[in-house]
Amino acid sequence: MAEKILIVDDMSVNRIMLKVKLKEACHDSIQAADGMTALQLARDQQPKLILLDMMLPDISGIEVCRRLRADPATSHIPVVIITASADRARRLEALRAGADEFLTKPLNEMILLARIRSLLRACETEDELRLRAATCGDMGFAETVGGFDLPDHLGLIAQDAATALSWRAMLAPHFGGRIDILTPTTALAEADGQRVPDVYVVGADPSAAGSGLRLVSDLRSRVQSRHSAICLVLSDAAGEAAAMALDLGATDLLTLPLDPEETALRLKLHVARKRRADQLRRQVRDGLRLAVADPLTGLYNRRYALAHLERIAQRARELGRRYAVMVLDLDRFKVINDSFGHAAGDRVLETVAHRLRDNLRPSDLVARIGGEEFLVALPDTTLGTARMAAERLCRAIEVDPVVLPDGREVRVTISVGLALGNDRPDGGPEAARSVVERADVALFAAKTEGRNQVTISASAA
Ligand code: GH3
Ligand code: MG
Ligand code: MG
Repeated sequence: MAEKILIVDDMSVNRIMLKVKLKEACHDSIQAADGMTALQLARDQQPKLILLDMMLPDISGIEVCRRLRADPATSHIPVVIITASADRARRLEALRAGADEFLTKPLNEMILLARIRSLLRACETEDELRLRAATCGDMGFAETVGGFDLPDHLGLIAQDAATALSWRAMLAPHFGGRIDILTPTTALAEADGQRVPDVYVVGADPSAAGSGLRLVSDLRSRVQSRHSAICLVLSDAAGEAAAMALDLGATDLLTLPLDPEETALRLKLHVARKRRADQLRRQVRDGLRLAVADPLTGLYNRRYALAHLERIAQRARELGRRYAVMVLDLDRFKVINDSFGHAAGDRVLETVAHRLRDNLRPSDLVARIGGEEFLVALPDTTLGTARMAAERLCRAIEVDPVVLPDGREVRVTISVGLALGNDRPDGGPEAARSVVERADVALFAAKTEGRNQVTISASAA
């Protein structure tokens, strides 16, 4: 089914006019003449955007908007309310009901189409993110997203300090978050740093044509600020600059004189949407991290470790170097679980993981490849160095007991099987997998010889 725009208007002549305009811009449309039909169509057909007349014969456009937002099946669809009256109370009501935009008749075609493009772009990004987050969920990577409790953060960039100060004084009582005054230079410099505003309000300098537009595209292109909302302040929100600003990546347009309440309302909607997208992005990132990491210890998991080991082996072959593989296993771990409980066992695993990592170089690979089994790979090493490293790991685990949250102490040791890769007497290649197998055999020997020790595999035959 082609993605469609839903036109809701009780006057058929209006619907036809919009349909034609949309068709010219290559958007297919479906139509509803009243509010209830619109709600039904929105649920069943999942239009990509809704153009909603304010005055309808059954329920008002605002009520339709409210119901769309309240229904999880339609809450994500952008809504543009279209009305003959530009009454301020109505605008506020529409924004509070969750409308994304509010356009007055007669419609300016250029602005309408630019708005539609910008809303659709934003939605596609959010849909894509939602899809990826869902895929991570399907793959079994639990959501690890925590709350995001930083205050809403607004950056004001006006043509002069006095204007910026007056905007801040006007918005502060309604916005309620953190408001920073920035210059174009500090805004862009900050955009290279860490924390940037959730939303920027950019005032164009009337004496420098295009200054606001340039800043919009500069902010949009920086890694740090590219996901922030950007609202451009214009004296005329219906001109060519307005349409261009939307196409350059402005999230919204504000017209002078700024209405404090309406502006704050819009800004807060943009912050909320941006935070939602941030959350999805974090979910995707965490999902990807979980695909390669072990959730208990944060170490790499088996799948990643074995794949990465192949690369280490490959590189060692190319450079004619040796690498070492250790397989490490906790000694009598079952007894620890049995006497202290499973949670204590987990705590021991976490502590062992930290100690292993702390006692190796950053370039060494450390992974948890089984319940209480770890793999360590040392690229570019000799047998002597690798053995010293393995013995250092044994000591690092043995030397101090693991202290449980309740203060009890658990003594734990590990056994290590060590094998050197690229160690065939004939100099021929040996698969990384086979090096791991030799390390495993050596580990078995370390266990049978009394545990808490390192055993070295004979070189590959
Ligand atoms: P050995 O010295 O021969 O290695 O003895 P062991 O007791 O360590 O070995 P065994 O394989 O008999 O037992 C391993 C135990 O590790 C059994 C299992 O319940 C426990 N285990 C595996 N994964 C986890 C885990 O994620 N958390 C906890 N707490 N225990 C685990
Ligand atoms: Mg064990
Ligand atoms: Mg085991």
